Amino acid sequence: MNFHIMTLFPEMVMSALSGSIIGRAIENGTVSVEAVNIRDFAGNKHNKVDDYTYGGGAGMLMQAEPVYRCYEDIIRRIGEKKAETGTVRVLYMTPQGALFDQKMAEELSEEENIIILCGHYEGIDERVLEEIVTDNVSVGDYVLTGGEIPAMIIVDAVSRLVPDVLSNDESSLYESFGDGLLEYPQYSRPEEWHGQKVPPVLISGDHEKVARWRHEQSLLRTMERRFDLFKKYVTEHPDEFVPKKPRRKKKKIE
Ligand code: SAM
Repeated sequence: MNFHIMTLFPEMVMSALSGSIIGRAIENGTVSVEAVNIRDFAGNKHNKVDDYTYGGGAGMLMQAEPVYRCYEDIIRRIGEKKAETGTVRVLYMTPQGALFDQKMAEELSEEENIIILCGHYEGIDERVLEEIVTDNVSVGDYVLTGGEIPAMIIVDAVSRLVPDVLSNDESSLYESFGDGLLEYPQYSRPEEWHGQKVPPVLISGDHEKVARWRHEQSLLRTMERRFDLFKKYVTEHPDEFVPKKPRRKKKKIE
């Protein structure tokens, strides 16, 4: 899996992706990430890549030509690496895009190359977006200063689904959203902490009971925290037993 990130702040992207699991995947070659500086394609003495917007209004807009040249350079290099290059997905990070979710991450993890375009300032001249972008992607209904953090989110969420990026201990098989539900609560040693005991079923050694308990907890948690997902799940699994919601314990204030 190769990510090509078009940005005005390459150091920001690369430093954030160099640690932990994704850093390890980059180091061992399972995933490759390049952050290409759009400013290198400015084509003018001062490396200027932004200008005022037509029609007036506050703020500067990233111009079409440097973005296009940067894109062409990446496409040429991808093409040189591989004799037969199919269409490459170009994701523009924008609050106006489709909301990024686990399903989209799974779908993107099948691609060999992904280009991610990060905007800044007021955004990017619409004409180049129309020409090169295949997917408009948002990470949430709020406005950030740039597309770099959204790009990092995409690289992280997609990379961990690429085979061999996660070790066995870090498996992504049973996680939130995998089956449309949130993951069940989990516990580690010690068996008792602050007077709270680990649910006895988890130390019973009965794998079937543990699996049933976990599934029930997933259902309950999803019902409590994400009723939208819960409703969808129940509609798709009408025969499934739904456990009763337990009363929430109030926290004592002493
Ligand atoms: N003027 C734009 C608008 O109102 O839609 C917002 C521009 S924003 C300040 C600058 C850049 O940040 C955008 O071009 C985009 O790349 C990125 N960005 C901001 N919020 C985002 C979000 N929720 N998801 C993805 N990218 C975002």
